[in-house]
Amino acid sequence: MNREAIYHGPKNLWAYAYNHDTVRLRVRTQRDDIEEVFIYTGDKYDWEKTALTHPMDKFASDAMFDYWEVAVKPTYRRISYAFQFKSGDETLWMTEDGFSYEEPAPPGGYFDYPYLHPIDSLTPPSWAKEAIFYQIFPERFANGDPGNDPEDVEPWGGKPTESNYFGGDLQGIIDKLDYLAELGINAIYLTPVFHASSNHKYDTKDYKQVDPHFGTNELLAELGEACHQKGIRVMLDAVFNHCGYEFPPFQDVLKHGKKSKYHDWFHVREFPLTVKDGIPTYDTFGFFEHMPKFNTANPEVRKYLLDVAEYWIKEIKLDGWRLDVANEVDHQFWRDFRKVVKEANPDAYIVGEVWNDSIMWLLGDQFDSVMNYPFANQVLDFFAEERMDAQTFANKIGALLVRYPKQANEVIFNLLCSHDTPRALTRCGGDKRKLKLSIVFLLTYMGTPCIFYGDEIGLQGDDDPDCRKCMEWEEKNQDRELFDFYRALIELRKNNRALREGDFRFLQAGEAERTLLYERLDEEKHFLIWMNNTEEEQQLSHPLKTNDWHDALSEEPVPVKDGYMSITLKPFDYRIVCRSL
Ligand code: CA
Repeated sequence: MNREAIYHGPKNLWAYAYNHDTVRLRVRTQRDDIEEVFIYTGDKYDWEKTALTHPMDKFASDAMFDYWEVAVKPTYRRISYAFQFKSGDETLWMTEDGFSYEEPAPPGGYFDYPYLHPIDSLTPPSWAKEAIFYQIFPERFANGDPGNDPEDVEPWGGKPTESNYFGGDLQGIIDKLDYLAELGINAIYLTPVFHASSNHKYDTKDYKQVDPHFGTNELLAELGEACHQKGIRVMLDAVFNHCGYEFPPFQDVLKHGKKSKYHDWFHVREFPLTVKDGIPTYDTFGFFEHMPKFNTANPEVRKYLLDVAEYWIKEIKLDGWRLDVANEVDHQFWRDFRKVVKEANPDAYIVGEVWNDSIMWLLGDQFDSVMNYPFANQVLDFFAEERMDAQTFANKIGALLVRYPKQANEVIFNLLCSHDTPRALTRCGGDKRKLKLSIVFLLTYMGTPCIFYGDEIGLQGDDDPDCRKCMEWEEKNQDRELFDFYRALIELRKNNRALREGDFRFLQAGEAERTLLYERLDEEKHFLIWMNNTEEEQQLSHPLKTNDWHDALSEEPVPVKDGYMSITLKPFDYRIVCRSL
């Protein structure tokens, strides 16, 4: 056994409270090196009466390692533990003291999880596990009130630029709620809606006023109520990393420099505020001079922004905040933010915009979730652009699964594209079959899926501003076959807990090939998802013990003959089969 590859740290994602009575423990071993892993647990103050042995489950693998996990319910909320590895005739033990071939005497030297404190655990709102989000860029979704259009508004459906307007607004969203209900989504995420200077509104000038081109504060409250009546949750975008150029405190610093009472609200490196060789003398988002970065360590700034966070939760019974450029804001601010938000609404869902590994924010004291761009990249690299074989894809997804505790994986904000990326169908080269494979994966994988507005009717668009084009409302120009496909997959996910919270496991992943079989499984249902991400027809088969499977979408029986299910898939096709347990 390769000891050098074995790793466990008695903290964060390796040893964590899953809920009020369960601790989950993980250990890493070299891939395909070890046949079985067991964990020996007990209470250090009463070992004999509490000692237990649990087999560990190999829940994920990446290119180099296997990852094993087990859920343990300690008798008295405390556990000490040791790992036992078995391969062939060899048995190896590991404690905090190191490796041994003999069973180490408990509990001295064992790993220790001192006490399970629910207050310290990451507890995302349970509704997020059932949510299917729909992301709306309000300027481009629907124009419900021409009366509030910007002066230089262009005809709906024109080419988006960085600065033009098409007149979309909140009334437009209210008018289209029946459409969203028909699609089946049950949560919406709106990019910023507060008063700002741009079409994207990521440069706020007034955090407590809805942008006049979008409507009024009363209309936002009406939108919230109308959504809630249809069982649709609402998440708004909190742009707290930076403000807009016209934000009054920033204007005050521009004018009065160091004498401004707001001079410490920003990260000013040098007064007066100006731009030298393209670089502002104050910190900004990127190097955009019109997006000055807040000094969130300043208690006045904290108070101001936390008040905004609380205000909208109470004002419109907001269900969640998405946090813009969340990784560039200090952790202390987000810790305070979580307290304020959860006190105002314990069920609020907090999603950070972080494009990289986000474990630092997902330990229970900051976010519930993050935008899972790494997921989008792997899924589209595999399905849309065919950049890897299925084994590599499975390894990359495995590597994502082991980044976070289970409860974070259950509500991680999975997307294929957004207002900041090319649209999924465009990355698929317009090939609907590839888009469908990507969507099947998104909607049969764990996490909280999000659909970017218009993807469901075949909208295309390259990187922004092109991806931010107007929604197509002429039914004859919508891809209704694609809409029906989205609707069917959404319904399937909503009707089956196994697809949301069930165990996930790759069963086959072709090497030098792009065929895939994976399962989702809970106490009630077992799903097998077959995929052919190649240009040739493929026949796949898998050994199964029972003959009670059916197609999850058509409900036609799918036979098992001589112990095998055989599935023939056309190029870029999929099949979802299931059985009730
Ligand atoms: Ca309008």
